[in-house]
Amino acid sequence: MRHSLTIAGSLLLAGCQGVVPWETALEVTPVDAPERVVVVGAGLSGLTAARALSDAGIEVVVVEARDRPGGRTWTAEVGDARVDMGAAWIHGPHETHPTARLIAGMGGSWVPNEPLMDAAEMRDESGEEVGPIEQWAAAQHAKRVLSKTPKVLDALDAEDASVSEVSVFLLDEAGVEGWRRRARRFMAEEAFLHRGHGGNPAELSATAVDWQRGFPGGDALPQGGYVQLVEHLAEGLDIRYEEPALAVACDTDAVEVRTSRETHLASHAVITVPLAVLRDGAIDFEPPLPAARVQAMEGHGMAVLEKVVLVFETQSWPSDTSWVGLADAPMDKTFCFDHTEQAGAPTVICFYSGPIASDWDARTDAELVDHALAAFETELGEDAGTPVATHVTRWHQDPYTGGSVSYPRVGTGLADALLLAEPIDGRVLFAGEHTAGPYFQTTQGAIISGLREARRLGVTHFALPGLEDL
Ligand SMILES: Cc1cc2nc3c(=O)[nH]c(=O)nc-3n(C[C@H](O)[C@H](O)[C@H](O)COP(=O)(O)OP(=O)(O)OC[C@H]3O[C@@H](n4cnc5c(N)ncnc54)[C@H](O)[C@@H]3O)c2cc1C
Repeated sequence: MRHSLTIAGSLLLAGCQGVVPWETALEVTPVDAPERVVVVGAGLSGLTAARALSDAGIEVVVVEARDRPGGRTWTAEVGDARVDMGAAWIHGPHETHPTARLIAGMGGSWVPNEPLMDAAEMRDESGEEVGPIEQWAAAQHAKRVLSKTPKVLDALDAEDASVSEVSVFLLDEAGVEGWRRRARRFMAEEAFLHRGHGGNPAELSATAVDWQRGFPGGDALPQGGYVQLVEHLAEGLDIRYEEPALAVACDTDAVEVRTSRETHLASHAVITVPLAVLRDGAIDFEPPLPAARVQAMEGHGMAVLEKVVLVFETQSWPSDTSWVGLADAPMDKTFCFDHTEQAGAPTVICFYSGPIASDWDARTDAELVDHALAAFETELGEDAGTPVATHVTRWHQDPYTGGSVSYPRVGTGLADALLLAEPIDGRVLFAGEHTAGPYFQTTQGAIISGLREARRLGVTHFALPGLEDL
């Protein structure tokens, strides 16, 4: 029998009470009027900024390292299925949500999809399903990690702690041991992991839970995948593909963006590459980035979230199901979701998150597919057949991403996060989910940051359908 489990879904919305007035994020002091802008990166943040600038009549060129737009939003074909390999959900598709507004504005739609809330199950170490009382207790523990953080910090005499430290403190205090302890840690820390798209709970700042903001309205999947929004934003833009930026040099008069092909001269540049790309020095800045900013970047980690996609000839499982596996080894923890309706073919997606990078790197695609299939069949309790097509993502090994999303490490607060959005010398501007302050990690964060930088460059009116009233 499958027990309904709602905690993970509600954690996704933790920290978001009521409707969030995110428009205040657009209240920035404009820089000098731009003549020509180079946007580095054609992910959602770069595309949004470029479209807003271009619609306002400002000359803009986008340089993109890959051969496609969208960055961490990428709808790909796997056999007969179409699957979002990066962002898939709109978290909280409320009428104020920027992603939802853009999708509605272009005539698109989304379908409600609460992956963890529908039906999830946990198993103890012998493979037996965990009963409702223990599931409830694990859910309560996860809630306590959220609500008791200030008390735990007082007891630890610390200003911040990791999500794992708070979880362990509370379990020690309650004297919980054995598999129950593992079950509760799994629920609290993996739920956080999921919420943070893979932020390592041993590093993830527990206080960030207080300042991260979401939107009400559950979770939903855009019809047709994120590709439609990407194509809509990219339409008509001058995007130079397979042209990675190597250096950005700025003086009082102009900015030079040197790429693998040419040097683009502009009045301003908007740098939207992911945090890990910036932090690892893939782009040389002249003059170098200020020390405080480098420190703020180092205060952030890049999370790991990977997907293994299994496409079958026929569907042999109930369609409203999600599974939660519980085991000790990090590699054995996976959430597998049925994705058949959205993908257009019998499809299961298994998510791997957390501190698994070393294991992942050492395994071939075939091994990872075998692992996902075995985990799926264990939960299913029967043979699922042989997949006819598969795909394994490797976002954290990708030189143009370096992980899934940014997350604040212990000791990194909102002020440090906001520093990542500060322009340099009024000419080099920054966008991207990692610059979105309380909206980090999400497509809405990327979009908000792109709009913010367009506004900083003097765009007062957004012509993009859905955003005209901002
Ligand atoms: C597996 C996964 C699942 C996710 N799930 C969700 C979800 O369900 N919902 C949600 O809201 N969010 C989700 N996210 C997060 C979401 O995808 C991101 O927050 C968002 O897409 C980031 O957009 P961005 O523009 O900031 O960065 P990106 O999309 O990464 O764009 C940056 C661009 O810069 C390019 N680039 C890099 N280096 C260079 C260079 N040197 N020169 C030129 N170009 C360069 C990159 O190729 C990329 O196109 C998920 C992410 C991942 C990886």
